[in-house]
Amino acid sequence: MAESSPAPTALATVYGYPRQGPGRELKKAVEGYWAGRTTDAELLDVAAGLRRDNWRRLAEAGIDEVPTGDFSLYDHVLDTTVMVGAIPPRHRAAVRADPLDGYFAMARGTQDVAPLEMTKWFDTNYHYLVPELGPDTVFAADPSKPVSELREALALGHNPRPVLVGPVTYLLLAKPAPDAPADFDPLTLLDRLLPVYAEILAALHEAGARWVQLDEPTLVQDQPQAVLDAVAGCYQRLGSLTERPKILVAGYFDHLGEALSVLAHAPIEGLGLDLTGPAAANLNDLAAAGGLPGKRLIAGVVDGRNIWINDLEKSLSTLATLLGLAGQVDVAASCSLLHVPLDAAAETEIDPEIRPWLAFARQKTAEIVALARGLNRGVRAISDDLTDNREALESRRTSALTRDPAIRERAAAVTGQDTRRAEPYAERARAQRNHLDLPLVPTTTIGSFPQTAELRAARADLRAGRIDQYAYDERMAVEIREILAFQEESGLDVLVHGEPERNDMVQYFAEQLDGYIATQQGWVQSYGSRYVRPPILAGDISRPHPMTLRWTTYAQSQTSRPVKGMLTGPVTMLAWSFVRDDQPLGETARQVALALRDEVADLEAAGTAVIQVDEPALRETLPLRAADRPAYLAWATEAFRLATAGARPRTQIHTHMCYAEFGEIIAAIDDMDADVISLEAARSHMQVAEELAQAGYPREVGPGVYDIHSPRVPGVEEVASLLRKGLSAIPADRLWANPDCGLKTRAWPETRDSLENLVTAAKQIRTEITSSSA
Ligand code: GLN
Ligand code: ZN
Repeated sequence: MAESSPAPTALATVYGYPRQGPGRELKKAVEGYWAGRTTDAELLDVAAGLRRDNWRRLAEAGIDEVPTGDFSLYDHVLDTTVMVGAIPPRHRAAVRADPLDGYFAMARGTQDVAPLEMTKWFDTNYHYLVPELGPDTVFAADPSKPVSELREALALGHNPRPVLVGPVTYLLLAKPAPDAPADFDPLTLLDRLLPVYAEILAALHEAGARWVQLDEPTLVQDQPQAVLDAVAGCYQRLGSLTERPKILVAGYFDHLGEALSVLAHAPIEGLGLDLTGPAAANLNDLAAAGGLPGKRLIAGVVDGRNIWINDLEKSLSTLATLLGLAGQVDVAASCSLLHVPLDAAAETEIDPEIRPWLAFARQKTAEIVALARGLNRGVRAISDDLTDNREALESRRTSALTRDPAIRERAAAVTGQDTRRAEPYAERARAQRNHLDLPLVPTTTIGSFPQTAELRAARADLRAGRIDQYAYDERMAVEIREILAFQEESGLDVLVHGEPERNDMVQYFAEQLDGYIATQQGWVQSYGSRYVRPPILAGDISRPHPMTLRWTTYAQSQTSRPVKGMLTGPVTMLAWSFVRDDQPLGETARQVALALRDEVADLEAAGTAVIQVDEPALRETLPLRAADRPAYLAWATEAFRLATAGARPRTQIHTHMCYAEFGEIIAAIDDMDADVISLEAARSHMQVAEELAQAGYPREVGPGVYDIHSPRVPGVEEVASLLRKGLSAIPADRLWANPDCGLKTRAWPETRDSLENLVTAAKQIRTEITSSSA
């Protein structure tokens, strides 16, 4: 037997780091540049400084190999579009005239030119700019950004690994350009794209890169054989290039499934695997594929998407198993740390009991370094880390915060009956008709009215102590009265209070529920210069006091028309927060649902006849793999029903969702058993109404007839014709007239005109219906 050579040293690394800087310097610089306060030189200087600080912070923490190219002034997919020269024709002149302004024009549009579309980056809350490709797309390599950032890191003495969006993922994330056939498949451009990637790899090699990481997260989704074949061909070609760094392909957010063995057998030198949560299936798949003999494996054992500390002992045992499966095993987070805030140490106001349970980017980096050290030098070398980790995990496991017996007992006692309305829909509909006495095709809105600068200023004044709670509440009361007066005058049938008191539809509830915590500095990038601070579902959830009762009943006291109560549903409460990783999501959703159920009961007891429970996130949180969807939809719809099913038959339950692609989840929508659902439909010309009708959806529907995404005012005839289209799919006694979504981003003038037109159109339609049936 040959003498065993010493095991290669495990490296600590990450795929990407938060871009904004500790004081959100990037946001300030970018927005300053847009506003003309900051010059391009100043902006680029701030950006270079942030990259330098990030690399230094990573290196000082013990990260052996730092990522480059993960930084972005706006979005890394847009950077890739620039890198491969896929600038849409409408933006070319601007990019030629000034690359930086052209870049921002693609991101944000200009007076004359529309931006690229923006959509969610997999199931995260980050949004990327969608590439537009067509049969005429000509690619051209522009390696300047990846090469210059690599050179910066090299000059600072780091050991860098450039990170790029992989070619297959880039194409799969694209949509057909406006002038391309609608069924154009961007993947057909792979042969044209690969020479461009070859040129970029050569440029990186030439500039001194030893490795390059190509991110292929689309491969964790179900892909047809044609895509798997394209992956095999792609990495065959890139692998056989002679002028290139070693290639590492990373897949994350789930397990690679069929793509794993394709990549394992490709002529590339390494693979990055997500080994957290359900993605841990990668471990068995890797063994089944014969491992990666002689190759490099980056083991993503630290969750890059949540904010909880790692179970170091568990990760060490995963890493030990992997040692036998690859030539070299390195340690990393499962994905870029872009999706978590920077530093939990900045959270000075968080309960000291909870603080040790939290790991943001900086803490995760330390975990990765400790794990690599443990792998290299044995657990004794990290015994202090392990002791602290064990204690923190134990404290979290046994805390009264995460284990409230009363909440757990109540959740465990939920029965099937609790999740079903007392009467079937047909009987409820009759009771609601009698109770509400609404006209045919009733009009309503989705909840929010314009969040004006004055409202935001009032909130800022309250926070800063410039006004007291009394003055703030008075301000809200005035606003609500104005919103109601407008709705009465314009003739809307079911009114709303307008949500002026809500900063955000999730945060507003999170702040009032026990078990949820807020951060002071926990910013994560949502898109471009927009950052959000998602609340944290830290413990068992309960409702210490009613949350919406006060303003809803106040509003109802001002009018004789029904005012809709307005709640955010359990799935959305989870989707836009950091969730617990110590229990199934369905259990957390059930606790939130029970709190909402109590709110529904309070509203109803106070005389609220219509209650809307928004679930805009239901569609977007759909698991990436089809096999996981039925289980998700089961707990998601059950949580919605648990929140709403306690309502009396005559109380009308509404729900609202935004996105227009419902095909896959129509059965789930039905399963929610809401009496009325409002959906986005104006842009797709009521397509969703037809889809629901075809699926035999039996309840009431409000397909949006007013696109609220732009200040454009829809005309009366335009709305009327959309309603007529709706009527061709849905009978008049089940159709509602409403906008696509809330009005909070709109200004008052266009809101007024649009809603007045909507009401006029609905009245006209009612006349048409009655005269045709007479
Ligand atoms: N009720 C919320 C609003 O009108 C719904 C928002 C949403 O669907 N995103 O603002
Ligand atoms: Zn919406």
